[in-house]
Amino acid sequence: MPGRLQHKSALITGAGSGIGLESALLFAAEGAHVLLVDVNLAAAERAARLVAERSPGVQAAAFKADVSKEAEVKAAVDQAVALFGRLDVMFNNAGIMHPADDNALNTEERIWDLTMAVNLKGVWWGCKYAILAMRANPTDAARGLHTGGSIINTASFVAIMGAATPQLAYTASKGAVLAMTRELAMVHAREGIRLNSICPGPLKTPLLMDFLNTEEKRERRLVHLPMGRFGEAIEIAKGALFLASDDSSYMTGTDFKVDGGLTSCY
Ligand code: NAD
Repeated sequence: MPGRLQHKSALITGAGSGIGLESALLFAAEGAHVLLVDVNLAAAERAARLVAERSPGVQAAAFKADVSKEAEVKAAVDQAVALFGRLDVMFNNAGIMHPADDNALNTEERIWDLTMAVNLKGVWWGCKYAILAMRANPTDAARGLHTGGSIINTASFVAIMGAATPQLAYTASKGAVLAMTRELAMVHAREGIRLNSICPGPLKTPLLMDFLNTEEKRERRLVHLPMGRFGEAIEIAKGALFLASDDSSYMTGTDFKVDGGLTSCY
């Protein structure tokens, strides 16, 4: 059976760890060529080797880029097009959460600026260059591919709910990702370019486990999770695969929640 991303190519940011790594493995297993982009080149290279081992039939390459830098994001998109001939899927997933006491009274301007630069501006650059690349996609009737593409932006459950643990800049950046994605989805819908946000719940990845760095903090967070457990990165990757593939062909501008029910509970 052909994979759900057969003949497509995808660029994933933050692909060296967590959601990005699991998405690269899954997208490749479903037939996509993948460019694994990360600011940590060694992690991206390790991840690309793993993808190549598990999915030898597709191309997998690593690329170093800091998503907060416009020129580096442009270079990453150019590299994907140079390697694979076209870009069908852009997963703007890289993000950071500063472990500092990040509330309105204490947070430092440099933490706010850094968080916004990576989590929000990085997504903007990713959308900008992916849209330009996807506009240039030739129609490929032989392979049954339409022009356009799918862009997925990683937000968070905190974009929808207030978090009692202070993470002000992070929360604000993720809320802005939802708003920006909706607007871009409307502007580019008639070009066949779909944009959706994915909102993960709390996961067992380094990003959250470094933040909830004691058993007590983790236990306190678990009380609020309807399923009584943290999510796994692969569970978010499966949601991203749905948004990346033609299975979601009539979806754009959504806030797609993969959160174990967290944002629906009280
Ligand atoms: P992770 O820390 O496991 O992986 C993040 C990856 O992004 C790392 O490989 C890191 O090197 C890379 N990265 C960081 N800054 C970068 C930059 N400037 N340029 C390029 N790459 C950079 O984290 P994760 O849990 O997989 O998180 C992925 C996304 O999911 C983030 O946007 C995060 O905010 C979001 N998210 C995570 C959770 C969670 O509980 N883990 C919940 C909701 C949303």
